[in-house]
Amino acid sequence: MGTFITVDIGGTQIRAAAYPENERQALAIRKTSTRAGSEATFDRMVGLIRSVYPADRSVLSITVAAPGPVDPYSGVIAAAPNIPGWMNFPLRDRLEDEFHVPAHLGNDANLAALGEWRFGAGQGHAHLLYLTVSTGIGGGVITDNQLLLGARGLAAELGHVTVLPDGPQCGCGQRGHLEAVAAGPAIAGYVRDQMAQGANSILQGVSDLSARAVSQAARQGDDLAIKALARAGEFIGMALADFLVVFNPSIVIFGGGVSTSGELLFAPLRESLRMHVMEPAYVHDLVITTAALGDDAGLLGALALAHTMQQRVSV
Ligand SMILES: [Zn+2]
Repeated sequence: MGTFITVDIGGTQIRAAAYPENERQALAIRKTSTRAGSEATFDRMVGLIRSVYPADRSVLSITVAAPGPVDPYSGVIAAAPNIPGWMNFPLRDRLEDEFHVPAHLGNDANLAALGEWRFGAGQGHAHLLYLTVSTGIGGGVITDNQLLLGARGLAAELGHVTVLPDGPQCGCGQRGHLEAVAAGPAIAGYVRDQMAQGANSILQGVSDLSARAVSQAARQGDDLAIKALARAGEFIGMALADFLVVFNPSIVIFGGGVSTSGELLFAPLRESLRMHVMEPAYVHDLVITTAALGDDAGLLGALALAHTMQQRVSV
């Protein structure tokens, strides 16, 4: 019986897990912090992988979910936002040199989509769209039971479509992208701006205002907080109307902290979707739901990729 090892590189921590072949219950999960110099991070990742490495079983592969632009074909991380030294870092080759087993690499939102399709809320759906809304907005698309990667592995950056020309600057440097008007920092920023212009809110005087605080205030009936979430929902619904006519999924799955805001976000989102979508056939029987895998989305998404790659090898 073989073992799959998966690694999830997050903003604050790196986690590694070992899964027996054909199971989704981990034998072991360990973690370490993300931030440090380039070699230090790689060395700690190697140590972390060794700490879950099974003594009595063979390892079939090591699969890594990483944030930001990665090339799943060459296994190179183009840039890791939280690891400054990792520019064009050949992670796959470095891991294969170290462990002498096949290694795979994927974008974390893409792999979360694959994980939800294989193990989570999207099981049984051949056409699936995944959006994660937290500090940024990421996406993944499954079409005909295949993860959409694109020519250079850069497909499905669904947070970086323009919804407000000349709008605020996005984390990627462009203006008016969905992420710049509807991710967590944009929701908090909208509330801050409105309060600076004299709007009333129970959030007045709160330092380090977060989307989570806005969501809590909205649940307590704060008008400005409700308006901020509704505004984000409207922009997401507008973009989703575009995604539906391009990909025609049967399910849309929302992950990330902001999507836990419930109907305060989703009611305006669905209304906006209805307003903007080309025709009702796209929303007929469409399932809109939240992610099922929670904190383990990256690890289980990487496991889903490991299974897919293993099947290719054995065919
Ligand atoms: Zn952008």
